[in-house]
Amino acid sequence: MLTLPVHRIIPFSNVEGIGNRTSIFVQGCNANCLYCHNSETIPMTAEGIRNYTVQELLDLIKGNMPFIRGITVSGGEATIYHEFLTELFRDVHKLGLTCYVDTNGFFDRQKIQSLIAETDKFLYDVKGIGEGLKRLCFTDVLLNNDHRAKGFQQRFIETEEHMLNLEHLLTEGRIEELRLVHIKGLYDEKAVVRRIAESLSAYSEIPLKLIRMHVRGLPKERIQFLKGTVPKVSEFDALAKYAKSMGIAKVLTIG
Ligand code: SF4
Repeated sequence: MLTLPVHRIIPFSNVEGIGNRTSIFVQGCNANCLYCHNSETIPMTAEGIRNYTVQELLDLIKGNMPFIRGITVSGGEATIYHEFLTELFRDVHKLGLTCYVDTNGFFDRQKIQSLIAETDKFLYDVKGIGEGLKRLCFTDVLLNNDHRAKGFQQRFIETEEHMLNLEHLLTEGRIEELRLVHIKGLYDEKAVVRRIAESLSAYSEIPLKLIRMHVRGLPKERIQFLKGTVPKVSEFDALAKYAKSMGIAKVLTIG
């Protein structure tokens, strides 16, 4: 029987997509972003994690009705568990609720096709483009995560497959919002914004949330790798202005 390793569940959240939603944070991620504020969810297993069956989660979700509009699965990286979530979402839809996925975009689109078909909306976190991703998201320091296969990571660095995944989901009308964490010096930030602007050119209703990276609350070992990468407020404001000048209609700043 399929089970889902769950790090935590927030019964009612209004920051994970439209309306009040039950947020489920899975354990396990295929990235290791230096600025991760949920780094305890990166390893595939951890102490205190509970494995849920579809029926157990369904019962829990039913208990939160009628106060929720749907559920959002976040992480970690939710798409790792595409088979389980496809099954769960089918049943959740029967309750008249919507199903959202929060993703870093590092997935094999063919492999998760069934999950895409069952997902109402994706909250899409663009991590960057190019070689900078290696240091930002796929670093070997800090964690020894054997499950993060090197060949898999290389596809995103070399072919920007995560951006192609984004464009595919945009054409299918499955994107609710995009996010970009502004970090300095790991890649050409303006080039990333231009790439996002290109992708969003036909979708002016979709917002880009631009978030200024901060290190508050991060473990010490992460902070030391982030020296010199926190943008000044003026640099952040300039990037937001640049995003607008590139034609992104809705730029929401969180700094
Ligand atoms: S994708 Fe999200 S959960 Fe995974 S390491 Fe990056 S910030 Fe953390």
